[in-house]
Amino acid sequence: MYNITLIPGDGIGPEVVSAAKKIVEATGLNVNWDIVNAGADVYKKTGVLVPDEVYESIEKNKIALKGPITTPIGSGFRSINVMLRKKYNLFSNIRPVKTIPGTDSPFKNIDLIIFRENTEGLYSGIEKKHSENVAEATKIVTSAASLNIINEAFAYARKNNKKKVTVVHKANIMKLTDGLFLDCAREVSKNYPEILLDEVIVDNMCMQLVMNPSQFEVIVTTNLYGDILSDLCAGLVGGLGLVPGANIGENMAIFEAVHGSAPDIAGKNVANPTAIILSAAMMLNYLGEKEKSNLIIDAVIEVIGEGKFLTKDLGGIAHTADITNAIIGKI
Ligand code: NAD
Repeated sequence: MYNITLIPGDGIGPEVVSAAKKIVEATGLNVNWDIVNAGADVYKKTGVLVPDEVYESIEKNKIALKGPITTPIGSGFRSINVMLRKKYNLFSNIRPVKTIPGTDSPFKNIDLIIFRENTEGLYSGIEKKHSENVAEATKIVTSAASLNIINEAFAYARKNNKKKVTVVHKANIMKLTDGLFLDCAREVSKNYPEILLDEVIVDNMCMQLVMNPSQFEVIVTTNLYGDILSDLCAGLVGGLGLVPGANIGENMAIFEAVHGSAPDIAGKNVANPTAIILSAAMMLNYLGEKEKSNLIIDAVIEVIGEGKFLTKDLGGIAHTADITNAIIGKI
């Protein structure tokens, strides 16, 4: 029996999270879901963004499946997502981006994985407004956090027989911060002589990803570049509805899709639940339930490949519930 914290979140969160819950249950995994919620909806009702029971549940279970949470732009409302990653030192944000046959994209056979530093960089939360017209943000890079994520990327590459790790940076301009991240990558790569360290500047990386994405296997980068490149890469394989993610620390992990709360389509039963379903599959793999994880992945690939139950973002007319039921039917 696994005790797992389930956070529905905002916008399309409740729709897609409930789809993922049903799919995990369809694999026969014995789960006691601890359902707690945080975010904009909870704030409207209670005046609290993250109720204590959310922290208590995550700290007790050490594993969570989380829907997206709305973060209004500007104002004093800091991102709950960023706060949770930092609070629990979930230093690895891992986002696999893989072509699913049957999706409409000019690119085929993309199979890459992004390792994004998840606790510092320009997301350190140190911002100041000096006057009406001048504001400042502080970018923090430490060798400890950089080594953590870079080691994860190289260890993954070795385990999965990947030949190359691409470190993405802007050390030509951000000489001290990105320079430190790059130095850490060079240091770690010495322990992996069989793996090529490929150093690419972030602007060039954007062009390379659009021109020839299949040249990349494992990408490791700082927080903000990783966030931006994740959405770019999602666009290469058919959109945000398809890309899962994990936030992993020493002994705790929160699984969530790359996408946000998609307020433009919330409540319409048209959101694509694939990204959070694949995030749940990553969670099962993390728990050591590889067989059940693969059951989910194979079912998703089969349903999308058949093309009968595609949501609007994939060019179809199926509702969230239709694609969910079709996937359950293949498990
Ligand atoms: P978004 O990812 O919510 O949406 C971007 C576009 O992709 C929208 O057109 C949306 O309809 C579409 N899309 C996203 N997920 C989809 C899905 N599963 N199926 C079909 N289409 C999908 O990004 P945004 O609009 O920039 O952000 C909305 C809110 O979400 C913001 O408040 C933002 O801060 C928040 N956000 C939260 C997280 C998180 O909780 N981890 C991540 C990103 C953004």
